[in-house]
Amino acid sequence: MEDGKRGRSMPMELLKYGLRRGHRPYRDIPATPDLRKRYDVVIIGGGGHGLAAAYYLSHYHGISDIAVLEKGYLAGGNTARNTTTIRSNYLTLPSIEFYREGLSLFETMSQELGFNVMFSQRGQLTLAHSDAAMRSFRLRAEMGKHAGIRAEVVDARTVQTLCPHVNMDFGGQHEVLGGLWHADGGTARHDAVAWGYAKRAAEKGVEIHQRTEVTGFGITGSRMTKLHTNRGTIAAGQILQAAGGMNGRIGEMAGIRLPIRNFPLQAMVTQPLKPFMDILLSSSNLHTYLVQSSRGEIVIGGGTDPYQLISTRSSLPQKEALATGALQLMPFLHNVKILRQWAGITDITPDFSPIMGASPLQNYWLDAGWGTWGFKATAVAGKRMAETIATGRVPDLLMPFALERFERFELLNEMGATAAGH
Ligand SMILES: Cc1cc2nc3c(=O)[nH]c(=O)nc-3n(C[C@H](O)[C@H](O)[C@H](O)COP(=O)(O)OP(=O)(O)OC[C@H]3O[C@@H](n4cnc5c(N)ncnc54)[C@H](O)[C@@H]3O)c2cc1C
Repeated sequence: MEDGKRGRSMPMELLKYGLRRGHRPYRDIPATPDLRKRYDVVIIGGGGHGLAAAYYLSHYHGISDIAVLEKGYLAGGNTARNTTTIRSNYLTLPSIEFYREGLSLFETMSQELGFNVMFSQRGQLTLAHSDAAMRSFRLRAEMGKHAGIRAEVVDARTVQTLCPHVNMDFGGQHEVLGGLWHADGGTARHDAVAWGYAKRAAEKGVEIHQRTEVTGFGITGSRMTKLHTNRGTIAAGQILQAAGGMNGRIGEMAGIRLPIRNFPLQAMVTQPLKPFMDILLSSSNLHTYLVQSSRGEIVIGGGTDPYQLISTRSSLPQKEALATGALQLMPFLHNVKILRQWAGITDITPDFSPIMGASPLQNYWLDAGWGTWGFKATAVAGKRMAETIATGRVPDLLMPFALERFERFELLNEMGATAAGH
């Protein structure tokens, strides 16, 4: 009854609204305020990670005297450019446990934020075109099962059932022998994830400063005391660096040498097609992955460009490489038009794992090295970095990702498990 009544009154409200003379602009995120002189916490980078950290600090730790400084527009960095693969089937135990928690946070994110992030858990299939690939998938599947995620090796017949459109033969060149099936894998709408965190953090009083670039630092002893920006200098109790592709550069500015190299990563989408593929499909051998978006477009991605560069220009050779891979996997796409192509700047570490936790400075925390794989970690990194800042203690889940692992030779090699599948 109640619902019925509410349903009937809606059009009248709409009509009244429509007949009103002036309409106040509705803002999900408050306009950028003036910068104050000091904040308890300053977050460098208004991408998904920085915004998620602001959300968890303000909602779970009672800290809302926070400024998020974003040099461009909200989540316009890699958060806006990624292809939204979410999965947890990595190779090393610390990574699987970390991404398992990350994936589980996506499962409840829309309810948590009261904002539809369109999480679609449809499973990810990575194809094996060689015996060596099958062997490495067996290892990953066993590691995954051990850590309690859904990961299993499947044979060629099951590949055909899961994805009837895939070309199984390639004239003998890249014959599909089987694959790694990860039923937990999925996608979510990247902008919605960032907006959801931003909106809820702003409701708690977090200030989001767009077009505010950090240009330098002031250090006293072992503490970062000042941040210089294009809008003035501010002080902060704690600082979180979550600057995506610029993490290496910002680290340098802060006097911290991070083992990060920048490579462009490109992707593209086709014109919309009728829904035909309800899984995420990837091939490490072909350096290509395909996923059909909720709009019907086929999102096509692959590995990074082969050279270091800080640039977001897309290139013809990469378009050709991605198109070649896509056509080998699904030759019937040959007449489909490419609508858009774009690039992001990735921050790649030597072991293809992120750097999270303490820095050599007491009040300066790192959330860096997210390379081609950090969207799926948006929630867990934000949540656990917020815990780190609030308590001053790095949680066990993040300890293996410490910067010092490079000094201790305790690398977490995820290169093979990251590859084209991100
Ligand atoms: C083409 C492509 C495909 C990808 N696909 C996937 C995928 O399928 N799955 C996956 O998990 N990951 C994927 N990634 C990686 C993923 O996008 C990133 O790891 C993730 O978005 C990182 O989020 P972030 O918030 O740390 O960084 P960002 O979203 O880049 O945010 C950092 C922000 O910091 C700001 N900033 C930089 N310098 C300054 C400064 N001096 N002052 C103030 N602000 C500054 C930037 O403007 C930026 O908005 C992909 C990346 C690309 C480029």
